[in-house]
Amino acid sequence: MDNTRLERMLINKGVKPTSNRILVYKALMNAPRPVSLADIECSLESLDKASIFRVLELFAANDIVHVLEDGSRSLKYELCHSDSHHTVDDRHVHFYCERCMQTFCLEDVSVPPIDTPAGFITRSVNYMLKGLCPDCAGKE
Ligand SMILES: [Zn+2]
Ligand SMILES: [Zn+2]
Repeated sequence: MDNTRLERMLINKGVKPTSNRILVYKALMNAPRPVSLADIECSLESLDKASIFRVLELFAANDIVHVLEDGSRSLKYELCHSDSHHTVDDRHVHFYCERCMQTFCLEDVSVPPIDTPAGFITRSVNYMLKGLCPDCAGKE
């Protein structure tokens, strides 16, 4: 994605495109799987942790990233691939490998519909499977 397209996309999501925000977005775009704040900090040496965190918080508030709790005690971030806000079809399953401690995004596996009692409005889902990734399972 070139910078012009990226800037337009951020504006569409209600975020003013600053150079820091573009850097963080690109780091997320290049990440093969959901990443933690520390992972992003490693790939972006020019930005300090606090600045990256502020950008991630803003992205989360504007549905640009999804925040995942995988039980590793550090939150993971991934780009939200839908263009609209709060879409159900964007809810996919994640898999946490207990051996290599990486979180995988299973984009093709959607979260099964869950019926909630009347009055409860589900706005986000955190569906995390845990076990061994194919690489680690092969080493067992
Ligand atoms: Zn693994
Ligand atoms: Zn994902």
